[in-house]
Amino acid sequence: MPGEQPGPGRRVVKLNTNENPYPPSPRVVEALRAAIDERVRLYPDPEASALRARAAALYGVPADHVLAGNGSDELLALLLRATIDPGDRVAFPVPTYSLYETLVAVQGGEAVRVPFGDDFALPAAALAAARARVTFLCNPNSPSGTFVPIDAVADLADAVAGILVVDEAYVDFAPDHALRLVGTRPNVLVLRTLSKSYSLAGLRVGLAFGHPELLAGLRTVKDSYNLNRLSQAAAEAALADQTTMTANVARIRRTRAALTAGLERLGFAVLPSEANFVLARRRGTDLAPVAAALAACDILVRHFATPTLRDALRITVGTDEETALLLDRLASALAIRPG
Ligand SMILES: *Cc1c(COP(=O)(O)O)cnc(C)c1O
Repeated sequence: MPGEQPGPGRRVVKLNTNENPYPPSPRVVEALRAAIDERVRLYPDPEASALRARAAALYGVPADHVLAGNGSDELLALLLRATIDPGDRVAFPVPTYSLYETLVAVQGGEAVRVPFGDDFALPAAALAAARARVTFLCNPNSPSGTFVPIDAVADLADAVAGILVVDEAYVDFAPDHALRLVGTRPNVLVLRTLSKSYSLAGLRVGLAFGHPELLAGLRTVKDSYNLNRLSQAAAEAALADQTTMTANVARIRRTRAALTAGLERLGFAVLPSEANFVLARRRGTDLAPVAAALAACDILVRHFATPTLRDALRITVGTDEETALLLDRLASALAIRPG
């Protein structure tokens, strides 16, 4: 189940679905304006060639190693549609991005859930032992924010029986990434999104990096025109302006440190995060009422009503002002609900 999206007109401090609090590059808005004319009567480029060429140049991979999708959510769905028959195993460490579970069920696959170790250490041996057709690793992981070093990801790629999908939705907030594995390991698919670090969640653009044969499988099940003209133009402009993205990321990382310190002062245990959110825990306390108290004052954070996560809140890193307001309201919510 995705996080709540407030109805039109409701003003909230939105810290529940890891959107970027800062606007995208001004070049995105220019590119959108320039693309809005009568050409909208024409179908878009089914191959998103200009966007893929830009991504290939930026990330130093051949263009035939890149596929563009309608958000990385679409790319996840295409991968499973292309590879999973009923009964096939798909493994992933848990807790993680809940869409994996949903998409495996849609394909009739068998989900193999491997619990993370203490402090979200990678359960590499158990993942490899699953002999799954597809293994997912969300890195940095959601909802924990924790990061697995790329050497360990490379070892996992060599150990699994099938395809290793490295979902790097948050990797621009982290110290390293797995793109260098794509050239040497034909079973690795790296997924990126422009929704988080590039502030383009509303335009739905994701990128898959992998061996051309692996991408050919995804192409066979993809809609020809999966990515509309405006999104292609906007995404290309966003990638062309690294300065804006990296400045926003730097600001978010600074605020992340302040948010973490503030939460620790309030008595939360906070996992070290390399993403644009943190997981704050009060061991043994169901935090559903705290999330509800925050929502009552129009601050949305994410609470997962599951046995392993009910004592935690996942909080997106917003602006400094939003973070200060959150910490203030959280202190009040905790004061009226000691626990
Ligand atoms: C946000 C997110 C996505 C989805 O990205 P879109 O490109 O917006 O579809 C994929 N994986 C993870 C782990 C995410 O958090």
